[in-house]
This record gives sequence, C-alpha cells and structure tokens, in this order.
Amino acid sequence: MTSTIERIAPFKNEVIKTFSDPADAEKMKAALAAVRARFGEHYPLVIDGQKVETEKKIRSLNPANPDDVVGLTSSASKEQANAAVEAAARAFESWKRTTPQERANYLFKAAEMMRTRRFDYDALLVLEVGKSWPEADGDIAEAIDFLEFYAREALRYAEPHPVVPMEGEQNEMVYIPLGVGAVIPPWNFAGAIMVGMTAAAIVTGNTVVLKPSSDSAIIAAWFVDLLHEIGVPKGVVNFIPGSGSVIGDLIVSHPQVRFISFTGSKEVGLHINELAAKPQPGQKWIKRVVAEMGGKDSIVVAADADIDAAVEGVAVSAFGFQGQKCSACSRAIVDEKIYDEFLDKLKARVAKITVGDPSDQKTYMGPVVNEGALKSIGEYIEIGKKEGRLIAGGKRVGEKGYFLEPTVIADVAPDARISQEEIFGPVLAVIKAKNFDHAMEIANNTEFGLTGSLYTTDDKKIERAKEDFFVGNLYFNRKSTGAFVGAHPFGGFNMSGTDSKAGGRDYLLLFMQAKTMSRKL
Ligand code: NAD
Repeated sequence: MTSTIERIAPFKNEVIKTFSDPADAEKMKAALAAVRARFGEHYPLVIDGQKVETEKKIRSLNPANPDDVVGLTSSASKEQANAAVEAAARAFESWKRTTPQERANYLFKAAEMMRTRRFDYDALLVLEVGKSWPEADGDIAEAIDFLEFYAREALRYAEPHPVVPMEGEQNEMVYIPLGVGAVIPPWNFAGAIMVGMTAAAIVTGNTVVLKPSSDSAIIAAWFVDLLHEIGVPKGVVNFIPGSGSVIGDLIVSHPQVRFISFTGSKEVGLHINELAAKPQPGQKWIKRVVAEMGGKDSIVVAADADIDAAVEGVAVSAFGFQGQKCSACSRAIVDEKIYDEFLDKLKARVAKITVGDPSDQKTYMGPVVNEGALKSIGEYIEIGKKEGRLIAGGKRVGEKGYFLEPTVIADVAPDARISQEEIFGPVLAVIKAKNFDHAMEIANNTEFGLTGSLYTTDDKKIERAKEDFFVGNLYFNRKSTGAFVGAHPFGGFNMSGTDSKAGGRDYLLLFMQAKTMSRKL
C-alpha cells in the first residue's frame, strides 16, 4: 500500500517572476491599481473566528509615500490578547485530534489560493513594505513554497518512526503537537516568514495567536482571512495586531502559551527568551522558544576571485530590498591584493542602481520601511563616515518617502561599529584583509552567524571555509541572499538565533514533541 506522502507530487520551488513577460507586467499594474483602490480599508482582530473592532487602530503606511494609508487594523488590548490565547487553547482540544492529512490539505489549499491571488499579494508587498516587483514576487513565491513544503513534511512525520524491536513488547513513537503558540514575525519577509511560521505551527496540530509587525499587518490580515475562507476552524489562528511591549510581552509570558515562534531583531529575541524562561503561576511546562534573529553578514573576496562576479554578488546582496534582509551582505572583506580594483568596480556598479518608487517596474531600490529606520540608518551613515571613507551614497533621496542612496563606506576597521552592529539598511562596509587567513578571522569576528559567502577560484580555500566560516548558511561564488525553501534550509548560529532551519527537514520538529508507547505482549 502506498502512503499518502508517496501519492503527492514531490516538492518543487515556485519560479520567481522577472516580469519580463509583458502579460505579467500588465497583471501587476492592474493588481497595484486594485490594491490602491483598497487603501484605507479596515481589518479587525480575529478572535475565535469572530471579527473584533477596536477604537484604537494601527495604520500601515506606504513607505514610498507615507500619506498613503495602505490599511488600518484594530489594535488588541491586553484583555483581547488574553481572549485570543484562551480561544486558541479551546481550539487546540479539537485541532490536535485532526489528522495530519487533514491539516496538510489546508496548507495545500492555502497555497493554491495564494497562487491564484499572486499578483495581488505581490502588489500589496510593493505598497506596504516597499519591495520592488521581483523582490515582492520572491517573497510570495517563498510563502507558497513554505505551505507546500511543510504540508509534505507534516505527512512525512506522520509516517511510522522506526524503533528497535524488543521481544515481548510492541513499541511505537509518534510526534504530537505542543499546544498554543505565539507567532511573532517581522515585517521584512512580510509574506514568506509570516506564512511559514504560522503554517509550520498549525500543520503540526498546534493553535496560534498571530501578532504581526505593525509595519506589515495588512498582509497578515489577508492571510488570516484566506485561512478562514478555506475552512480552517475558528480559534486555530487568532489575529491580534498590537504593541510589542504591551500585548507582545503578555502573550509571551501567558501561562497557557506553550511555545513562541519569533523572527526579528536580536534585542527583542533575547528579551522574549528571557521572559519566556520564567514560569508563571499555573504554567505546567518549560516554554519552547524558536528565535530567528539578526545578522551581520560578510562576503569574503579572495585574491584569486573572479572580481566582476564578486562585485555583482556583493552589490545585489547589499542593496536588494534596500539591505533589509537578515541575509544581506553588510561587510565585504576583500584581500588587499585586489582591494583597489574591487572598490573601483563596486563604485561603478553601485552608481547604476536606481532608487525610486517601487510601484514603478524600473525601480531596483525602494524606500526603507519607516521613519524610525530612516533615522537610525542615517545615524549609522554618520558613524560610518567617521569610521571609514564614504565612496558612494550617504544621502537621503527626496523628502517624502523614506528613500536612501545605496551607501558604501571603505577602509573600515574590522572592529568598527559599522562592522559589528546590524544596520538593516543599504549600507555596506568594505574591510581590507591582509590575506585569506586574515579575511577568515575577520569574517568570524562578530557575535552573529547567519549567512556568509566566499568568492574564490581555489578549492582549498573553499574547503577551509567549510571548516572555519561559522555561519548557518554559507555560499560559494554566489550572493549571500536568496535562500530557497528545501534547497537552502535557513537559520543562523550564535546571536542569530536558536539554530533552527526554516524550510529544512528538521524544522517541524520544533513544533512537536515525541511520545513513546510500549505495550507488553
Ligand atoms: P523586531 O525585533 O523589531 O520585531 C519583530 C517582531 O517582534 C514584530 O512583530 C514586533 O512587533 C514584535 N515585538 C516587538 N517587541 C516585542 C515584545 N516585547 N514582545 C513580543 N513581540 C515583540 O524586528 P523587525 O524590525 O520586525 O525585523 C527585522 C529584524 O529581523 C532584523 O534584525 C533581521 O535580521 C531579523 N530577521 C531575521 C531573520 C532570520 O531568519 N534569522 C529573518 C528575517 C528578519
């Protein structure tokens, strides 16, 4: 007899659209107009399947033109956050008894629905967080990939797990869900990460309170509506936008919450980890925290590298989506033998980057996400000008949207602040290394360990980097961004997180616990 998993087509990544096909470009323009026509729409909380309006609202603004209110969500109070956790706890009692096949089918259906609405979701990301068209489509393609991948993974985990046979006993081990999870995603992969974290939690039989980032709450509202549209039972996913410090802390420390799935900054991740560690009255478990956090990612360029390829890889890794990826290259570590040539070529390449409104198909770099980001990145640029030599960018573009030039600061010391702290914007530090050993030493000198890349034509250097370059995702002769679900299980070491691998075969284990049963014969 074939198992369910064997009857399902093998997982395949979605193809990311380049929009070079004029038909795709036309559809995208129509979708942008359709999303604009919905500007100002209001999205309530969803608690136990009921829509709940609040007086207090969160406004999600278009960073390219902050006068545009992309949408408003209700903002959950402490009482409503408590109600959401209680609803999730009630729903868990029946949801945990559904079969993995049933739960996987919801993910397959959700993937199908997202495919049919792909251009609308793409357009929403362009307008809500300032992604260029291909970046937005990459984000939605990844969201669909997570749904398809985790559905198959849940079916795989539902298969029998071999245990060593023992005479006189019948033994088995199964994976069961944990309980209620607080799902707290960031705004930067507002589609993919929000969908992936939610999907992984529910397909394994848990129920969820989803607290989106205030900068990207509308896409989360769309997705929660989609889940209810396809019949996910009420209470399984509860939607509570709200302040991190008020309801974030509350859901993290709530005694009925069994686990927290968080992606975001190191500071907030560490705070959550600490809060979750303290047992509350009535709490019966040690909470599990899955925290995927920041990065300070390096691309090392060895003396023997193909310099043109390295320049291209550094430029797209540093400035794609304005450098607002946890995997973005924020440090290029370049061998002194090719340093000057590399810098000249990089400067010329960066000069070609277009900055502007991402709803225009020709734009490569859009705005940074909000006013706070504009200010803090601006402060780092000022620090960087003192710590090194500004060779490109450095200024704001225009006055209305939150646009910044792609900025390159050369001759930066390995221990300078802009070499060490996550800036999360279009700012690249270039560091000169004496030789390959020195470059490797610099590459490992931060507290993070998320992604890294090495450009070289020397296999020995590749072997050395495999041993010593301490990052969760290491690439050779390619950019440091653009991990694909299944192909590049993603997540970092050290202060980059709790060593999980989203989109990998062991990810769903983080949302389950194993139960062993032995029957005497
Ligand atoms: P952030 O830490 O500011 O916010 C992340 C989420 O936490 C948001 O939903 C926010 O509302 C919530 N939050 C804030 N305070 C909270 C609290 N006290 N309790 C509970 N929740 C709280 O991060 P961000 O600006 O949204 O995202 C950018 C960061 O995310 C960067 O550091 C980036 O490197 C990181 N990131 C990491 C990965 C990864 O896979 N490792 C992926 C994407 C982004």
